[in-house]
Amino acid sequence: MKLRPHHLLCINNYVGKGYSEDFTANMDKTVAGLKNGCEFTLVNGPDDLCAHCPFCDGECKTKEKTDRYDKTVTDILGLKYGKAYKFAGSVEKANREIIKSGKFDAVCPDCEWFSLCKNVISSKKTE
Ligand code: SF4
Ligand code: SF4
Repeated sequence: MKLRPHHLLCINNYVGKGYSEDFTANMDKTVAGLKNGCEFTLVNGPDDLCAHCPFCDGECKTKEKTDRYDKTVTDILGLKYGKAYKFAGSVEKANREIIKSGKFDAVCPDCEWFSLCKNVISSKKTE
């Protein structure tokens, strides 16, 4: 399975909403596989989630933004492209070092889903 860095955050904040029915069906399947212990290879570009996104035509149509999100996540977490990672440890690290440390706002503030993700993060804090 291939994942791009900022999708660790998108998966962490996922509550069943997405760009299309095909996208969310694939997201559900991918998240289930990752939670079952699948590893992923970190990629610098479109991944297994992008493959079902209406904004992907071989490249992300909002590449300027999403490449920036990837770079910020990669820099904070010290990730390496081409390397295989365990999902559970990686998403836990992203949660700890980006979300709980208060750096989430610096990663993807101009994403159309940002308000939703902020609400998900706030609701998890009160659980
Ligand atoms: S918006 Fe871009 S980065 Fe996000 S899933 Fe779609 S193609 Fe991939
Ligand atoms: S705001 Fe957008 S890029 Fe950031 S975690 Fe949410 S869906 Fe992903």
